[in-house]
Order: sequence, then C-alpha cells, then structure tokens
Amino acid sequence: MPSERLVLRPPERGHKILIAEAGLRIPDDPIIPVIEGDGIGPEVVHAAARAIDAAIADTFGGRRKIAWYPVPAGEKAMFQYGELLPQATLAAIREYVVAIKGPMTTPVGGGFRSLNVALRKTLDLYANVRPVYWIPGMPSPVTHPERLDVVIFREGTEDVYAGIEWEEGSPEAIRMIEILEKEFQTQVRPDSGIGVKPISETGSKRLVRKAIRYAIRNRRRSVTLVHKGNIMKYTEGAFRAWGYEVAQDEFGDRTIPWEDAVRKYDGKVPADTILIKDVIADNMFQQLLLRPEEYDVLATTNLNGDYLSDAAAAQIGGLGVAAGGNMGDAHAVFEPVHGSAPKYAGMDKVNPTAEMLAGVMMLEYLGWQDAAVRLRDAVRKVVASKVVTYDLARQMPGSKEVSTSVFAQAVVEAIHGAPR
Ligand code: NAP
Repeated sequence: MPSERLVLRPPERGHKILIAEAGLRIPDDPIIPVIEGDGIGPEVVHAAARAIDAAIADTFGGRRKIAWYPVPAGEKAMFQYGELLPQATLAAIREYVVAIKGPMTTPVGGGFRSLNVALRKTLDLYANVRPVYWIPGMPSPVTHPERLDVVIFREGTEDVYAGIEWEEGSPEAIRMIEILEKEFQTQVRPDSGIGVKPISETGSKRLVRKAIRYAIRNRRRSVTLVHKGNIMKYTEGAFRAWGYEVAQDEFGDRTIPWEDAVRKYDGKVPADTILIKDVIADNMFQQLLLRPEEYDVLATTNLNGDYLSDAAAAQIGGLGVAAGGNMGDAHAVFEPVHGSAPKYAGMDKVNPTAEMLAGVMMLEYLGWQDAAVRLRDAVRKVVASKVVTYDLARQMPGSKEVSTSVFAQAVVEAIHGAPR
C-alpha cells in the first residue's frame, strides 16, 4: 500500500502539544507518538513506557498522563506499508511535536542512508543531545567514572554526514575532480570517491545557541566548543569562531570566553557566568579520560560528536545505558544510542535502561522534572541493588541477572517505593 494512503488514527483521549511564541505549551495529557522500532525495539520501548507511566502517575497522582500514539517506521512499516519511514509517521511527529523511538535497523547497501538521518533531516532536528553521566554500580573501564558528567550537543544536519558524496568512478566524482583541477588547481587522485563537508554559520550558531541556553537553564559551568579547526580552518575553525561569536553577541551578559576569564579574572570565572572555551577534537578524547571534571556541556560538529559521544558512553557503562534526544527549535525525538541488536530480538533479554533514560530526557523536555528525577532515581536504585540484565550482570560480580521485563518491573516497584 503506498504510504500516502496510510491513515494513522491518534488516540481518542489526549491533547496536542502546542508551539507558542514563548515556548511549548504542554497539556496534562500530551499525545506522544512512539516508534517501537526494530529488533529489540518493541521490548525496550514497552519496558520504558511502563516505567515512564509509573513515574508520571506517582509524581502527579493521576493529574497528568501521556496518551501514547504508536506510529510505524522501520522493517515492520516496510512489510505492512511498503515504506520504511511513512509520510504519515513523519506528519504525526510534526503535528504532535515530541516523540520517543526505539532503535531501527538500517538496511545495509544502497538506497536508504539511515532512517535516523532521514528523521533528523526531514524534521530539521539539528541538535543531537547526549547526556553522559555515571549511575553508581554501573561497570566501567575507568577508575573514576563518577568524574564524568557531560552533555554533548552534536550538530545533526551538516558536515560529512550531510550525504553529499559521489562514488569513485561516477560521472559526478570525475566531474568534481576535473573542476578541482581546472578551476582550483587542486590535484585529487582520479580513482577517488568525493565527499563534501559543509559547515554553515546558521547551522553552527543555532547548535551553540541551544547548548548555551541549556547550560544557563541547567546551571552548568562551561560550554566547550570541540573542533578540528587547526586543520580544517574554514569548516571546523569557522564552527569555533561562530560559537564564540554567538556567545558574545547573544549571551554576553551570561558568558565569558576563556581568554577574558584569564585576562580579567586570573582564570576564575565570575559567579553565575558560563565559561566558553574550546578544545581541538583529538585532545578532547584524552581530556575526557584524564580530566573529565573540567568539562560540562560540549558543543561540536557532526562527525566529532559521533565519535566523542560513543567514547564518552563507554566510560560510564556502554551503549546499553546511553540515551539521546534529537532536537529542533520545538520538535524533539528521544531514543537510546544503541541499535536494534537483531540477534536478541524477542528474547526478553536486553537492557532497557537506555530507552528509560531517553524517557527521562523526554520528561525533562516536557518540563515534568519531578517525574524525570523519580524515574532516574528508580533506575539508579535497581542498578545499585545489582538487579541487572545480562550485559551488566556479566561484568558485575554478585549481581542477579534478570530479563528485560523483570528489570522493568523492578524499576516500577522502585518508583512506587520512592517517597512522595
Ligand atoms: P547494536 O544494535 O547497538 O548492537 C551491538 C551490540 O551492543 C549488541 O550485540 C549487544 O552486545 C550490545 N547492545 C546493544 N543494545 C543493547 C541493549 N539494549 N542491552 C544490552 N546490550 C546491548 O549495534 P549493531 O549490531 O551495529 O546494529 C544493529 C542495527 O541497528 C543496524 O541495522 C544499525 O544500523 C542499527 N542502529 C540503529 C540505531 C538507531 O536506531 N538509533 C543506532 C545504532 C545502530 P553483546 O552482543 O556483546 O551483548
């Protein structure tokens, strides 16, 4: 069935989140589209939804409740509707503004680059936001994982990820090589594939703006611009320059660039002021390992952010517990960082923590902070009690290995047991 004819029915109860000038207007019963995803997606999404519902019910005593709106995407959508990402699903997310998703399988080979990239591009979700903090008890490869507590803002629409590239030997690649040689006197080997790395002032500034706003709202101490500007001056270097510019021009009274902090205040940052600094990407990797406590909010380009956020996630326990949000100016889609792990599909085995923490981010985005804290605390409590799924159990001596659904039940019980 062609997807244009697919009609989705929103839940009968619940209201739309509205985009107003002053920000989002969140009803007490927001309709939230949910993409179950592929492989282990349905299991982790179901577990997370149970925990999110329990946290909301216990926090707000029935005054607030999410009206979940299942929308198709991924393999199941392909099978049922002939398209991986139906227009009706995109339209639902656009209309209802905030959504949560499970992981989706990316078909290998040509055709579709990635469902996630398509989702980000279509809805212009330009900031991929990944908080990385340690949950006590979580196995970690570093000695002091508690010293890392950062939020990475990764640009999501530009860079080599924009998909402007041509295969070696294609007419486009040959033509580009000719243009480079004839018009720019630049030699490129004739058997090269060609990729283009666009980084714009608009894209960079709106990403850094979002990171600074987040830092101000959440009383964080610094925003670090991570770039490779020493080598790629007009893309990565420009990202750095535009970052400092937006801090100065739009948040001059709330931020201070590193140079000024040194020159005027002997390196001490005045109270209620956010330090803006920058670090070259390769150095950033060792900084996060050696002096993680010196970093707070990180803003970076797409490719740097991809590497950095997985490396940082490894320090606090790995992909099974890392969550992220794809955010635009109003729209946001929350998701776990891990993929669809098809080999474990339907086994009630994998860790739903990352999807639950995606739920925590979503609750924060809705402004339902108390429910977010309740859910995060419950996950912490269950992990600290050493009741964990297989992935953590194999690294935690003395732990009790449980299934996805039993872990979810333990989290729900911890929510119910928390003081009101
Ligand atoms: P993956 O699905 O993340 O799985 C890799 C390994 O990570 C698993 O075999 C498992 O390790 C561990 N793992 C992942 N999720 C886990 C969980 N919830 N609990 C416990 N362990 C977990 O990566 P992949 O195999 O490279 O990718 C599979 C598919 O997912 C691909 O089609 C890929 O494109 C897609 N993908 C989608 C997203 C997304 O939708 N956002 C993100 C990444 C990848 P062990 O087997 O060692 O236990």
